[in-house]
Amino acid sequence: MNGIGGGLDGIFEIEGANAVFVAPPQVLSKSYLHYSVDASLYYARSVLLDAVASTQAPSKEAEDDERKRKRKRKNKKRVYELNEKEALAELRHQEARSCILNAHEAFRLSSRLLEFRRNCKNKTKIILSCEECHLTTISQDRDIELDFVKLAGVWQAPLYKLTLPSKVEENVVHEVGEEMQNYSLFNMWIENKRSEEVIGKVTGFNFLLPKKCRFFISDIAQIRRLIPDSSSNGYNLLVIDPPWENKSVSRRALYPTLPNKQLLRIPLKSLVHLDGALVALWLTNRQKLHQFVEQELFPTWGVKLITTWYWLKLTTEGELISSLDLTHHKPYECLLIGYALQKLPEETFAMREDGLKPFIRNVPAGLVALSVPGDHSRKPPLGLLLSQCAPHGSRSVSCLELFARELHPGWDSWGNEPLYFQNMKFFRKE
Ligand code: SAM
Repeated sequence: MNGIGGGLDGIFEIEGANAVFVAPPQVLSKSYLHYSVDASLYYARSVLLDAVASTQAPSKEAEDDERKRKRKRKNKKRVYELNEKEALAELRHQEARSCILNAHEAFRLSSRLLEFRRNCKNKTKIILSCEECHLTTISQDRDIELDFVKLAGVWQAPLYKLTLPSKVEENVVHEVGEEMQNYSLFNMWIENKRSEEVIGKVTGFNFLLPKKCRFFISDIAQIRRLIPDSSSNGYNLLVIDPPWENKSVSRRALYPTLPNKQLLRIPLKSLVHLDGALVALWLTNRQKLHQFVEQELFPTWGVKLITTWYWLKLTTEGELISSLDLTHHKPYECLLIGYALQKLPEETFAMREDGLKPFIRNVPAGLVALSVPGDHSRKPPLGLLLSQCAPHGSRSVSCLELFARELHPGWDSWGNEPLYFQNMKFFRKE
């Protein structure tokens, strides 16, 4: 599998499978000199979910429901054939299934990862022992969190500022009593050019900005403002995690969602670098969405699908978070990987497509990334893996994340809340 993940902190190749194990706090902490990501907060939701799942025996009601469902399925099977959509979904699941089972088995047998799993279990015990205190900290924090989406919607929005040390230039290091400067919070690029993290303040909340990062906070209505002035300043890697319409997200008011047709308006071709770009799109398992992406979204964006990667979600004990064959709530999500070229005349496009073949061969097919999930919808940090596969000639890869909730060194990040996980409460001073 081309040695993907080899030598990257927090990303471990799993012998005998086309798979990597990702430890997100370890990967993310590499972005900071003086801070690290607090693993107990990163995993808090997962640990609590595991704990609830393992201590709660199924209620009599739940058992009855499951029995009824099984009986119904059995009866249905006799008279019912899968319709076209269901058959396609099943086919897709069967493809994923073999990659996933192989990866999970190799993970269980991996002697290199045994130590890590032991560590993880021990940490879990510590976290569980102060479970109550975690629960209160998290729920209290939720109440006093800065809600960027609400803030952007009030008439005073243009007046909100991010306060940063005045010189966020390269080679400048932090000094006590530095002068501060205000930057408009919304609809503007904000950049930390320093080779170390800086702390920014918004209305009394502190946010940690990793070295050499840029971000733009806005609604999708402003997305054309991301288009670079020249195509040689475009992006070679775009990671996109759209707020797909989803009952559970809406019911819990986690973040606003977007109808599919809004995504068709993302000017993807105009964001792509002259040399082309790798595009990685996160997708849930709904067949309707897969159809929309393959038949409408990717063709409109000019993206050709290369392969699908899978994110397999593990409990802190290293088991799948749910049964692999449940119709809903599968323990994996898909990352569709494609490549995009700028809008070019037909014959030039064909030539360029040929030129891109070597890099496409570098993208491992059907890679499985195993990790313990963090907060709701938070994806494991695969940016470094993906950037190893992106086209970039002799330059460094230029990367953009759309609908971001955190920042990465060397990346541009856009969304209506890209500072969400940069809140200082998620970090520990080293
Ligand atoms: N990749 C992120 C992570 O790992 O944490 C999760 C992204 S989440 C699925 C989608 C994001 O899109 C949310 O932060 C949501 O607030 C944002 N979003 C929703 N509607 C938006 C809009 N109209 N304009 C910009 N961003 C929007």
